[in-house]
Amino acid sequence: MLSQEIRNYISEHSQETYDLLVKLAQIPAPSNYEEKRVDFLTELLESWGAKGVYTDEALNVVFPYDDDGEKPLVVFMAHTDVVFPDTTPLPLHVDGDKLCCPGVGDDTANLVTMLMVVKYLLNHPMKTKDLGVIFVANSGEEGLGNLKGSRQICKTYGSRMKRFYSFDGGLKGITTDAVGSSRFKVSATTIGGHSYGKFGNPNAIAGIAEVIRDIYSLTVPEYGKTTYNVGTISGGTSVNTIAQYVEMLCEYRSSDLRSMAIMEDHFQKIFKDRNTDDVHLEVELVGSRPCGALDETARKEQTEMFEQAASILKEYTGKEPTAGAGSTDCNIPLSMNIPSLCYGFYNGQGAHTREEYVEISSLKIGYHVAFESILAYFE
Ligand SMILES: [Zn+2]
Repeated sequence: MLSQEIRNYISEHSQETYDLLVKLAQIPAPSNYEEKRVDFLTELLESWGAKGVYTDEALNVVFPYDDDGEKPLVVFMAHTDVVFPDTTPLPLHVDGDKLCCPGVGDDTANLVTMLMVVKYLLNHPMKTKDLGVIFVANSGEEGLGNLKGSRQICKTYGSRMKRFYSFDGGLKGITTDAVGSSRFKVSATTIGGHSYGKFGNPNAIAGIAEVIRDIYSLTVPEYGKTTYNVGTISGGTSVNTIAQYVEMLCEYRSSDLRSMAIMEDHFQKIFKDRNTDDVHLEVELVGSRPCGALDETARKEQTEMFEQAASILKEYTGKEPTAGAGSTDCNIPLSMNIPSLCYGFYNGQGAHTREEYVEISSLKIGYHVAFESILAYFE
C-alpha cells in the first residue's frame, strides 16, 4: 500500500510527468542512434540532483542510486530506442483520451514513469533494503538493437545482479519467459544467364526456393513453443534472366533451450546441404537472442517477484495480469539465471506502428504501479 504522502506526490506531479512524456516522445531515437535522448536524459537527471549518472559504451544512461560496488543489486530498466528510423522530431498529437505518437508507449511512457519514481527518490532519499539499486534508460531493445543495452548492463553488473526488471509493454501482462531467436540473412549466387539461350543453367531463385522448402518441411521440436519464418526475399534481374543472385531473411524462435539447439542443427544442415557447386549459399547471422535458463532456485525467486507484481497490477487495474513468453530485455539476464520480469505502466495500442497511442487516463494507474513496484525495494 502506498502512503498518503506518495499518493499526494503522484497527484501533484502527474501533469509534470505527462509534460515530460510529451517532450521525450518527440525526440527521435532509432536503435543504435539514441544519442539525442541520451543527452536529454543525462541533463534531466543531473538537473534533478542525480550524482554519478554515466553513459556506457552501448549508450545506456545509467544511474546507480545506491551501489557501493560490492553489494547485490536490483536493476530497473526502460528503453530509450524506438523502431522508427526518423531522425527528425516524431509527430505527436492528442485525440481525446489518446496521446498519439510513434514510440509513445513502447517504451517512452514506461521510461518517463520510472523517472517519476527516480525524481521522488532524489527529493526524498530512502534507504534500500538488502539490494543496491541501479536505474537504466537503456538502448537497443528493438530489432536492430539486438538487446545491446541489456547485454552491456549484464556485462557490467551481471555477477552482482540478483533481480532484474524491464519496464516494457503494458499493464495487462507480465513476461516471465524469454523467447530466444536466431535470425539469418541467406544469399544464393550462381552463374545465371539468358533464360532462353542458357536454359538449364542453375537459377539462384530456384536454389533458395529449395532452402525455403526444406525449412517449411521441418517439424518443430516438442519442447516449449517453437516457430520458424521466412520474412523477406528479394533478388533476380528480369523475367528473361536466369537469376544470379537472391537473398532472404529467415529466423527460428523458441521458448525452450533444447528446441533452440535442435532448430540450430536443422537450419545449419539445410544451409550446408543446399550449398552446392551450382548454387553458392552464404549465411550471415544477423540477430541472436538467447532464451531463458533459470534453475529451480532462480525460478522460485522469479515466482515471488511475479506474485508481487501481479498483486500490484491487480490492485490498481482490477484485473489479473496474464503471464507469458516474449522477446524482451529480460532475455539476457534470464539466460544468465537471473530472475527477471517485464511489464509496463500504461494501456494503449499500436506498438511498432505510426498509429501508436497511450490512453492518457491509464497513465495515472501506471504511476501508482511503478511506485509500488520500485519502492518495495526500499525501507
Ligand atoms: Zn519495447
